[in-house]
Formats: sequence, structure tokens, C-alpha cells
Amino acid sequence: MFLIHCPYCGEHREEEEFHAAGQAHLPRPLDPDSMTDEEWGNFLFYRKNPRGEHRELWVHAAGCRKFFNVVRNTQTYEIYGTYKVGEMLEFDGAPEVGPTGSVMNWKSPS
Ligand SMILES: [Zn+2]
Repeated sequence: MFLIHCPYCGEHREEEEFHAAGQAHLPRPLDPDSMTDEEWGNFLFYRKNPRGEHRELWVHAAGCRKFFNVVRNTQTYEIYGTYKVGEMLEFDGAPEVGPTGSVMNWKSPS
């Protein structure tokens, strides 16, 4: 079991309270009617499946029920950070996790 920080509640809560909801930062097509079936199918069904850093949408299902973004390592399950929808969290280079499990090299939001 591990703890996930909800950026809305501001607390670390048990992972059982959360559900993953797929890849984050997927721009919705502005004009779906102009897309081919293949383009629309790619938007609906094709997602990245990287080894390493991945940005995902999660929901605090048993808490505030809000969606937020998680930066997670798909190989180690390490969570580098969480942030609200509409925000973006950047690293200064590759994410470096310190001894307490928190990322050491966040870029502060501008
Ligand atoms: Zn919450």
C-alpha cells in the first residue's frame, strides 16, 4: 500500500481511495466531424504505454471525487508528483527522487 497526495484535499491518502483514469493531457479534437474514422479511432483508443515517466489522470473516488494529474514511473510505481487539472508540473531534467520519496528537482510554476 502506498499514499497518494490529492492536490485538492491537500492530504496524503491511501491508494484505495483513488482510481487511475488513463493518460493525462489528451487534447480533445476541436472539430471531430472533420476527422476520418481512423483519426477518431486513434483519439478514442490509442494511448501511450511508456516504460518510465508517464502522466496520468487519476480521480479521488472515495474522497473529493476530483480528477487530477499524476506523474508516475511505470517501471517502479514511484509517484513523482501530483497536480491539479489545468496545471503542468515540469522537472529540471530527469526526475530525481530524494530519500524521503519526494522529487528534488521540480521547476517552480511560473
Ligand atoms: Zn481529494
